[in-house]
Amino acid sequence: MTGCLFCKIRDGEIPAEIIYKDEDMIAFKDIHPKAPVHFLVIPQRHIANLFEVNADDEGLLGRIQLTIPTIAREQGLDSGFRTVLNTGPGGHQEVYHMHYHVLGGGPFTGFN
Ligand code: AMP
Ligand code: ZN
Repeated sequence: MTGCLFCKIRDGEIPAEIIYKDEDMIAFKDIHPKAPVHFLVIPQRHIANLFEVNADDEGLLGRIQLTIPTIAREQGLDSGFRTVLNTGPGGHQEVYHMHYHVLGGGPFTGFN
């Protein structure tokens, strides 16, 4: 989608520290980490948020959630992690390309 920050990261137009990539999803470090480890997992295809998904996305959502623990372990989060997915203004979503936050590795700061 034109003008979408995370589409630009996907397309390599804006730099990011990418830690995982496959045909369905990309994971990269959050630029303002709220925990010692804080990364975002986005679908490759532009989807604004959970209000925009439909039944065809069931497999995609499942695959993302099934992959997150593997990426988390690779990032050292063996004792666990927090996943957060903000949807819409009511969920304090700032970037309208769906993303799972994955946080862990110590105290969280300023995360609402
Ligand atoms: P949300 O409020 O759920 O939409 O979260 C958006 C997240 O994207 C925030 O945690 C930001 O720190 C993060 N963010 C914004 N710009 C970038 C960027 N260029 N690279 C990586 N993360 C970013
Ligand atoms: Zn996008």
